[in-house]
Amino acid sequence: MWGHLHAARLPDGYPQFFARAEGGHVWDADGRRYVDLMCAWGPVVLGHRDPMVEAAAARQAALGDTLNGPAPVMVDLAERLVDRIAHADWAIFAKNGTDATTGCVTIARAATGRRAILVAEGSYHGALPWCTPVPAGVTPEDRAHQHRFRYNDLASVEAAADAAGQDLAGIIVTAFRHDNVVDQESPDPAFARGLRALCDRRGAALILDDVRAGFRLHPAGSWEGLGVRPDLSAFSKALGNGHAIAAITGREALRDAAARVFLTGSFWCAAVPMAAALATLDALATRAVVPRLAALGQVLREGLAERARAFGIGLRQSGPPSMPLLLFDGDADFRLGRAFCAAAAQAGAYLHPRHNMFLCAAHDEADIATVLDAAEAGFRALRAMPGAG
Ligand code: PMP
Repeated sequence: MWGHLHAARLPDGYPQFFARAEGGHVWDADGRRYVDLMCAWGPVVLGHRDPMVEAAAARQAALGDTLNGPAPVMVDLAERLVDRIAHADWAIFAKNGTDATTGCVTIARAATGRRAILVAEGSYHGALPWCTPVPAGVTPEDRAHQHRFRYNDLASVEAAADAAGQDLAGIIVTAFRHDNVVDQESPDPAFARGLRALCDRRGAALILDDVRAGFRLHPAGSWEGLGVRPDLSAFSKALGNGHAIAAITGREALRDAAARVFLTGSFWCAAVPMAAALATLDALATRAVVPRLAALGQVLREGLAERARAFGIGLRQSGPPSMPLLLFDGDADFRLGRAFCAAAAQAGAYLHPRHNMFLCAAHDEADIATVLDAAEAGFRALRAMPGAG
């Protein structure tokens, strides 16, 4: 079992295996039902087994999935993304978020003929040697030509760019600061604008890693609300509502470089996930998912804050309300977080003690009420522990 998914590293009583899912709920292998606030760690944005998405996937599956080349649905999907994503003039498809972030870095290098990439300390961009947070099996050469900066610290970006000098190919940055186990941070608009200006000044590519936040914060790309458009974006997770697909979108100026880079995989042309993604993009628009998630998230945030106060518990909530992270004061070893989540799971809510969570559009007010009741059980469990508060 992979590290962070191992039940031994999750709160007591957390299931290792899941039998099925529907809408905003998952059932574990023992048949227990939870309101699902992880949503498969992000891919499920409309709800599990969304009928419209599954019908589109089934229609394509009846025709074929993995073929000798792409099905026509790839063109429809590329056109829809180019229409939808503000900076996009073209799109390329792959499977995982790591494919997309790695492809963006490679395209930036191909376009500029330079090597250096600026990467924020603590940001997650995937599981390959160039970006994995775990050192096992990684050589210094795998991480060559990278310079670090601190998220939301423009001076540190300038210093990293100076260290890269004439070799600066690009800057990769997540849509907001969602590093593991620390409070989440919104991007400072001046920081985002500063990155854009620096890339323009130095002829480097600004790469937005929108794998986690994409389609949850803004339909046209997560920095559209800030008025900052990247040169390249990496998407995956929510794009297919659970079907395996990733996308790179880019500006016209990067098209030629993208066409020259060798980007492929045996399953990258699979048509079913593309049909699912097309239906997901339609549903995201017609159901006004972004404001719906924000409103649900706000109800959850306020309800949690009110209950934490009533129990006298130091709960910190950070990040966009639709992608909430819950951390407890004085809980460096996550003892409180684990106990809170263990009690909440018993009461029917699947939460995470260290990672940001994800709402989906199939959650309703009753689900949020269930989560708030479960959280109350969690706060009660903490009150009963020595050292809480
Ligand atoms: N970038 C970000 C911001 C992510 O959150 C993730 C996945 N958690 C990735 C890249 C990598 O995506 P994948 O696991 O699909 O390769």
